[in-house]
Amino acid sequence: MDQEPHIVIVPSPGMGHLIPLVEFAKELVLHHEFSVTIIISTTGSILLKSQKSVLEILPQGINRVFLPPVSFDDLPEDTRIQTKLTLTVTRSLPFLRDAIRSLVATTRLLALVTDHFGTDSFDVANEFNVPPYLFFTSSPLNLSFMLFDLPKMDKSVSCEYRDMPEPVVNIPGFSTLVHVSDLPDPVQDRKNDAYKWLLHNAKRFVLADGIILNSFGELAPGLIKVLQEEVTGKRPVYPIGPIIRTGSSHGSDGSDCLKWLDNQPSKSVLFISFGSGGTLSYDQLTELALGLEISEQKFLWVVKSPDEKTKGQGLVVPSWAPQIEILSHDSTGGFSTHCGWNSTVESVVHGVPMIAWPLFAEQKLNAVMLSEDIKVAVRPKSNENGLVRREEIARVVKSLIQGEEGLRIRERMDRLRNAAANALREEGSSTKSRLELLLKWKNHERIYQN
Ligand code: UDP
Repeated sequence: MDQEPHIVIVPSPGMGHLIPLVEFAKELVLHHEFSVTIIISTTGSILLKSQKSVLEILPQGINRVFLPPVSFDDLPEDTRIQTKLTLTVTRSLPFLRDAIRSLVATTRLLALVTDHFGTDSFDVANEFNVPPYLFFTSSPLNLSFMLFDLPKMDKSVSCEYRDMPEPVVNIPGFSTLVHVSDLPDPVQDRKNDAYKWLLHNAKRFVLADGIILNSFGELAPGLIKVLQEEVTGKRPVYPIGPIIRTGSSHGSDGSDCLKWLDNQPSKSVLFISFGSGGTLSYDQLTELALGLEISEQKFLWVVKSPDEKTKGQGLVVPSWAPQIEILSHDSTGGFSTHCGWNSTVESVVHGVPMIAWPLFAEQKLNAVMLSEDIKVAVRPKSNENGLVRREEIARVVKSLIQGEEGLRIRERMDRLRNAAANALREEGSSTKSRLELLLKWKNHERIYQN
């Protein structure tokens, strides 16, 4: 048997989960003398180029196991992403069981780590007495909502949440009331299976031996405090972030845009990207293009359909851009983002002020946190049809890149960037959290036997 401490990581598919979990695996093998197996559940469809490239170049000490594809033939066409993410893992459990059995026989397996769509894998871990851990890849605000509010609301409210007499939620650790319309997508329609699966996973968070969070104490002190207090004695929460992608860009061929950035003035360019899955409606694309034109600011925009109006003022990059390289470039002065948690953390690490433009999933919740609480983002207002008009776009873009508000946001972002760097120093809060977690793994400590 291999005597190195070993961890098995079970990500649900999707870049937002894959990237931080793979980075965490790298950290374990490169800095803490662990070895890791990443077990990837797959569906009939092939892995995307970007997903493949995250898994392609891995340091020695990380093994990859691809499970046989599960079928989604029985699912209706309009099945939501949250349902698919969960079912990819859930339907792979028999294969996962075989894989874990063989790891238990051949390695010193100390923990199973999965994300918030993979909690059904906890059961397999428990069958082999391997402690299950949740790696929550989203914001502390979303964790607090899913852990404390959602299960309670499901019990106490019988109508759709938007029809509650007062459609607001007081999320523990957060000072602002959150409107139901800013809660994660699946919560907007309780009849859809996506809601059922979100709730199913949320209720299972407490079955984890611990919850790992890609965040750091200073990012959201109130939330982290509540999460640690409420869960301490039951399930500890470990804020170990910021964790962002290291190494070269995944699946990107964006060297042109970096060259273009090299020729722009310092902090002058707005980077615009809506993540790996975000697309805008045709009308919204048009408004954004026209808004950018009115703003007269430089921009670098990642779009799925590269037919937009630019007139030499900006550059449009098809599909996949080297986001980290762009955010760390001196010419980048702002980031208009869909508020996916990885993008958010990357922006914080590089101190780039944000325009919060959430589209789906839990992105609106993240946007509320960034714009109303931490105040490192401006959030454009949409009209009654959900469209952000060109004038509003021009206003927020100008104010972020050139205005007073942008300056104040930049100052706050600078402080946050420093706090993020400090959290990772030798005596930093996240370093301490990491060491505490790894020590617990190495000592085989378990809080309860599940
Ligand atoms: N990303 C990238 N290039 C792109 C789009 C996305 O490198 O053109 C990376 C981005 O840096 C981040 C991840 O993909 O690490 C997206 O994760 P996030 O949680 O922000 O959003 P999601 O794609 O899951 O909605």
